Amino acid sequence: MEAARVLALRGFKPVLFEQAAVLGGQIRMASILPHKDKVLWLLDHLERQLLDLGVEIRLNTAPSMDEIKALQPWAVFLATGARPSLPPIEGIDQPQVCTVDRVLRGELGFTGKRVAVLGSGLTGLETALYLAGQGNQVTVVEVQKQIGPGVLPILLMDVLPRLRELGVQLLADARLTAVAAGCIKLEGAVTELEVDAVVVAAGVKSRRELLDELEVNFENVQVIGDAARPGKIGNAMYAGFDQAYVLS
Ligand SMILES: Cc1cc2nc3c(=O)[nH]c(=O)nc-3n(C[C@H](O)[C@H](O)[C@H](O)COP(=O)(O)OP(=O)(O)OC[C@H]3O[C@@H](n4cnc5c(N)ncnc54)[C@H](O)[C@@H]3O)c2cc1C
Repeated sequence: MEAARVLALRGFKPVLFEQAAVLGGQIRMASILPHKDKVLWLLDHLERQLLDLGVEIRLNTAPSMDEIKALQPWAVFLATGARPSLPPIEGIDQPQVCTVDRVLRGELGFTGKRVAVLGSGLTGLETALYLAGQGNQVTVVEVQKQIGPGVLPILLMDVLPRLRELGVQLLADARLTAVAAGCIKLEGAVTELEVDAVVVAAGVKSRRELLDELEVNFENVQVIGDAARPGKIGNAMYAGFDQAYVLS
């Protein structure tokens, strides 16, 4: 969205393809997490700018190569984001295991369940908060020695007291080794935990399976945002701005 905005300001005629019914990607999911609804302000702003600039937006469209070729584009920006990654652990394909996006999309009703959240990055911690708020008994399982590795201290200072208030158990230095019926197996001080569900918040990986084909078909292909490297909203915005700003 940011790249399209800057390109339009520069006099290009960007066409924005979005496979979903709405714009916003992972930011929409982030907005469902507790106290994060205001990230939607950014989307409102960008959407308004795109409308004002007359950017052509094609929703519900994952374009084929032919559709892109028909535009005879000067350049193609690949901004397909990232998808959750699942660690290769025994039992990870069990039906009681799911990823954060499915929880936040409301695909699975979670209330009154014992839930293990795998990973204590900010997404894991905030998902734990969300699940605890829905009346689940939540345990966060983190392989590192500290809860919240890499999370800004100021954010940890905000989220940890709220997790404690809701009775979320935080288990650091615990490696998940297997998911079995009704429980998970761990290496660490606790070796087994009875759970009804496991929510994996173990990071995301870039979604760029279109890249090879795009590079064969088009001379100027730019990869931006999480598609280039999973990061934060700011990283994606800067990349969109920068690469649209210097396109020649
Ligand atoms: C739960 C959660 C919470 C987060 N919280 C924060 C936070 O607090 N702060 C922060 O800075 N970052 C946060 N992030 C990360 C942040 O949302 C991402 O870094 C950012 O959204 C990346 O933007 P992007 O445009 O690169 O990718 P995305 O937001 O993933 O957008 C990619 C878009 O491309 C679309 N798409 C994919 N393939 C195709 C295709 N073939 N054709 C058409 N469209 C396609 C997708 O549907 C999606 O809309 C969070 C992420 C999640 C999942």
